[in-house]
Amino acid sequence: MPIFQKDSVQYGDTEINYTVTRSKERNTIGITVCGPMVEVSVPSGMKLATIQPFVVKKGAWIVQKLDHARHQKPIYPSILESGTSIRLLGRQYQLRFLPAVDRRASLDVSARQIQIYLPPGGKTKMGQKLIKALLRKELEKFLPDTLEKYSSILKIPVPSIQVRDLGNRWGSCTSSGKLLFHWLLATQSLDFIDSVVAHEICHLIEPKHSPKFKKMLVKLRLNT
Ligand SMILES: [Zn+2]
Repeated sequence: MPIFQKDSVQYGDTEINYTVTRSKERNTIGITVCGPMVEVSVPSGMKLATIQPFVVKKGAWIVQKLDHARHQKPIYPSILESGTSIRLLGRQYQLRFLPAVDRRASLDVSARQIQIYLPPGGKTKMGQKLIKALLRKELEKFLPDTLEKYSSILKIPVPSIQVRDLGNRWGSCTSSGKLLFHWLLATQSLDFIDSVVAHEICHLIEPKHSPKFKKMLVKLRLNT
């Protein structure tokens, strides 16, 4: 019996695709939903016929989790001051506002801190602008590797991208084949960023959330 296996069950009108991981150390079934991925951990000898009804039984919970990941909206911390924590590409940083000696607003990223230097009387707005530019730049640097990885699996040219404000969406795909990403995506976990990239790149081939789309998405996310 393979250690790692793909399977799917039908729950209402949703096809739940999941991976089964077998382990000798387990004696119960465990389900985790991570972004768009459903992982089912089971004892080593357990047959699919036993696992499937269990997944169906947890169907409502799984569908809700999957839906939540898809519709989670970009939110920016409303108050930015010294001590505010923000996440940048999966790492946690603390903001520190400091006076700028040379009267020019600037920003410096160290291991755990983002230092924002503002001129006397400098507005927090100026700081927010600097942070937004930083998140955008870092996301633009981070995305190409992920796009290249998925393009090669799908055997399509690497799409061009744009990082900008997308309102309440994390990502989007234009009719001309360009992928758009919200700059706030930079504040999410690497796995979440990865799942948004995978989702949008699949839309270049299949515009609808059809079974074909979902299969493609699972294929991409299992290959990583
Ligand atoms: Zn979509």
